[in-house]
Amino acid sequence: MRPSFNERDVICYHCGVPTPVAAAARTASCTHCYKGIVLDDLRVRDAGWNGRLSTCGKVTIDKRARAITRQVVAGQGVEVTGTLEANIESHGPVVVGETAHLKGDCRAPTLVVREGAVIESGYYCIGPAQADKNPS
Ligand SMILES: [Zn+2]
Repeated sequence: MRPSFNERDVICYHCGVPTPVAAAARTASCTHCYKGIVLDDLRVRDAGWNGRLSTCGKVTIDKRARAITRQVVAGQGVEVTGTLEANIESHGPVVVGETAHLKGDCRAPTLVVREGAVIESGYYCIGPAQADKNPS
């Protein structure tokens, strides 16, 4: 396929392989594993989210939000200022704000925890290569 300026590469969060998507696309299918991928940033604004939080963009948990889900997968980072119970796998920086309440494992290249944040439990693996490791 001829590369064009209307395309960008994203890392598929299912298989970890870069896949070209249209610049304006909000969802796409991976050209490698053929699974659907979300490209939009996801933002949880209130309580009651229990669906999957997977995107090639960024995941934001707002101050009053409460998200309890199995896994958060973010291509460009996670920002939490509310309550999040999930295992985080981020390929971008994870920012835990001063009002955040976190429970679950976290794998990310960098982690910022602001004073006042609560991290209840979890296994943390932070470093440039951590996000690319496959759990086995
Ligand atoms: Zn894929």
